[in-house]
Amino acid sequence: MLTRLMMLGPPGAGKGTQAQLLSNKLGIPQISTGDMLRAAKAAGTELGKKAAEYMSRGDLVPDEVVVGIVKDRLAEDDTADGFILDGFPRTLVQAEALADAQVSLDAVIDVVVPEELLIERITGRMSCASCKQVYHKTFNPPETEGVCDKCGHTEFNVRADDTREVVVSRLGSYRAKTEPLRTYYADQGLLKEVDGVGEVDEVQARVLALLSEGKG
Ligand SMILES: [Zn+2]
Repeated sequence: MLTRLMMLGPPGAGKGTQAQLLSNKLGIPQISTGDMLRAAKAAGTELGKKAAEYMSRGDLVPDEVVVGIVKDRLAEDDTADGFILDGFPRTLVQAEALADAQVSLDAVIDVVVPEELLIERITGRMSCASCKQVYHKTFNPPETEGVCDKCGHTEFNVRADDTREVVVSRLGSYRAKTEPLRTYYADQGLLKEVDGVGEVDEVQARVLALLSEGKG
């Protein structure tokens, strides 16, 4: 079983959900950059303090600081059997920095979903304006159209950045940034594409099948 993992996938692909399920199933931690930065900051490590300075100014934390924090995190005991990096590395530069820091991966899982479906998934998200219950207009609508199942309220909110135009642009910039990363890992034989269309459980079964196939 391959267990030193990185998850890739555009917004709406269900990458976070799959990483969480995999983490539970394999008993290995899911490590996201945001969580790690917050933990390092709270722990008051040298790198954590540095990261906190950038974050407090609203600046992006530089790659070498993030990579240092990732490396520290991966040296902890709970990663002995493996780990799932979620949302890092994000760019080729970060991937190279990670390799320079001697962090090796067994597999990079790319959750692939056609762009039209991603757009449909993201733009259909809505929540009850009163109780905040989350729905999807196509995939998880309220039982009675326009009425919240939980509280009976009839107004729903859609996030302003979930409009089609914004989503298309977000997906485009995701692709542009991650394409070199995919090529980089594909060249090393690490990239494993998983069909992300279907039920959460079906996709998870595909991920597990790929990981148990081993390298190559
Ligand atoms: Zn409600």
